[in-house]
Amino acid sequence: MKNAAESINLNEIVETIRSVIETDSAIVPLHEPLFAGNEWQYVKECIDTRWVSSVGKYVDLFEEKLAEFTGVKRAVAVVNGTAALHICLKLVGVEQGDEVLMPALTFIATANAVSYCGAVPHFIDSEMNTLGVDAKKLRRYLSEIAEVKAEGCFNKKTGRRIKAVVPMHTFGHPVDLEGLVAVCEEFSLELIEDAAESLGSYYKGKHTGNWGRVTALSFNGNKVITTGGGGAILTNDPELGRLAKHLTTQAKLPHQWEFRHDMVGYNYRLPNINAALGCAQLETLPQFLAKKRNLAARYQAAFAKISGVTFVSESEHCTSNYWLNAILLQTEFSAKRDALLTLAHERGIMARPAWDLMYTLPMFSSFPRMDCPVAERIAASLINIPSSVNL
Ligand SMILES: *Cc1c(COP(=O)(O)O)cnc(C)c1O
Repeated sequence: MKNAAESINLNEIVETIRSVIETDSAIVPLHEPLFAGNEWQYVKECIDTRWVSSVGKYVDLFEEKLAEFTGVKRAVAVVNGTAALHICLKLVGVEQGDEVLMPALTFIATANAVSYCGAVPHFIDSEMNTLGVDAKKLRRYLSEIAEVKAEGCFNKKTGRRIKAVVPMHTFGHPVDLEGLVAVCEEFSLELIEDAAESLGSYYKGKHTGNWGRVTALSFNGNKVITTGGGGAILTNDPELGRLAKHLTTQAKLPHQWEFRHDMVGYNYRLPNINAALGCAQLETLPQFLAKKRNLAARYQAAFAKISGVTFVSESEHCTSNYWLNAILLQTEFSAKRDALLTLAHERGIMARPAWDLMYTLPMFSSFPRMDCPVAERIAASLINIPSSVNL
């Protein structure tokens, strides 16, 4: 750690970003996709054979390759990460009126998916080193507000059942998964990982997504790899894997011509043409990850010399995919955040702040939460900086 700085030089910070990224472009996006492999060939094959839609070999292949890469038993490809989260919540039995614990600091999709189930998001603070849910603080909090009965965990204040925890691996940095698994056991909660940002991130040598009963991935255009739009559900429980496929394909029973459905299902499957893109992207993922680590190391070295800011690096026992690189302004300089963003944009650097905390948004402001001083500090002082693979 550097000593506390007395001043901060915004110009120096922007120049440091510029000095690290190797690009001639005047405008540097935050995260651009890169198509450098078999994308054209696989997509063209879909068009030539007319297998562009809901079935085709690339869907199965993409699911197989994803399961292999992440080390889970089953992957089910879906239309986007938000749909993946929605089905994950259904799979572990989240019902209308349940509460679901989740970070205050996350992308809106996590809270929206909980709302689609008619459930209530319940917001939790983060820890500084992982930027994700603070398991120790969550345990202390639940000891005060929750009661475990035969039918599950209940919030003593609201009377509602607390069914699950959905931690999120922020910008690719894995959360304290062992701590969370222990909390879930103690309080009889289901663990769902929102791994939308953490494809290629490992906790204690194992890919993220192996601790929750189910996990959601996203392949949106700005993620580590993209299928245009897309997502996946991961699980090590073969029965839940089968149910995930069934629920995301209109719950249709296999038959050559009959339309028989046995549940209310969803049309959430990933089209073959998107899966084709995904297969090609997965082939280049190891190179992408190596390049992202290299960029992060260069940022880290450069920012070590700059006062008033810290580069966010991976925590102990964790390997981050460094999906989005981030710097944190020292707390006393957080009032300069917007001036820094303005200056960066003037110089063509599309830096971004973290998301607004979920409980500051009108539709979630009345929902239960703990005090979140750390998440507030992160939200006020963090800036994401350009992180594309080609930098
Ligand atoms: C990207 C993302 C999602 C899913 O987004 P989609 O755009 O629906 O694929 C979910 N949670 C987090 C934290 C994300 O960053």
